[in-house]
Amino acid sequence: MTPDLPNAGRAPILVAYAGLLGAVIGSFLNVCILRWGAEPKQSVVRPASRCPTCGRGLRWSDNIPIVSWLLLRGRCRGCREPISMQYPLIELATGLIWAWMAWRFGFGLEALRGAVFATILLGIAITDARAYIIPDEFSLGGLALGVLFALAAGRQPLGTALLGAAVGFGLLWLVAVAGEWLFKQEAMGGGDIKMMAMVGAFLGWQGTLLTIFLGALIGSLIFVPLSLAGRKRLVPFGIFLAIGAAACYLVGPAILRWYGGYLEAA
Ligand SMILES: [Zn+2]
Repeated sequence: MTPDLPNAGRAPILVAYAGLLGAVIGSFLNVCILRWGAEPKQSVVRPASRCPTCGRGLRWSDNIPIVSWLLLRGRCRGCREPISMQYPLIELATGLIWAWMAWRFGFGLEALRGAVFATILLGIAITDARAYIIPDEFSLGGLALGVLFALAAGRQPLGTALLGAAVGFGLLWLVAVAGEWLFKQEAMGGGDIKMMAMVGAFLGWQGTLLTIFLGALIGSLIFVPLSLAGRKRLVPFGIFLAIGAAACYLVGPAILRWYGGYLEAA
């Protein structure tokens, strides 16, 4: 658990700064979602952002998170075609995530770890919803970041992260093999397997188990009614795993404590 931090680490100016930083990162996250989810995958560095309709390049003043979209009233400066509301919404969401983490944990390593983790989960959820893809840059890149954060925290957290990653990868790999054998078709994508290795590195093995449980629960609550209504289609399971992982990061320890008490009482 995180120790109580002095109030200085939660000064409103620092929380606001974290929120602004998050909005800028959210702006880059938009580019990652769009280009890593594209077929074929595109570089997030080149070319510079341009309007998909008229090809007009963006000025620096068109690149201010949220503000530019509002000033342009959601339309391209050149062709006046609408610009997706996804852009400002993701910038806003990422800004709120970073501000909230700074407020919750104080301006320090745990806030950065939580903000990075939640940003990656948001990226995975939106890319999976749009393109049915979980890019390796999010999953394997996130795995590397999760291990680095654990390394910065010491030897014991590193062991927890590596074990968590192994459990996440191994369990979903088993589900994939069993599913393929049972249903004679791909039941679990490779992207989900790599994603759960990343989640394991951030949450440890208990958090990984809880994430899979929550993801399957949320997924079936949403998917079963859809398939009963005859609207069965490809399930972007990464979204449900991402929601489960975020819930687990926020309230996982409380759920595990409650479950532990429940087992003792039974
Ligand atoms: Zn345009």
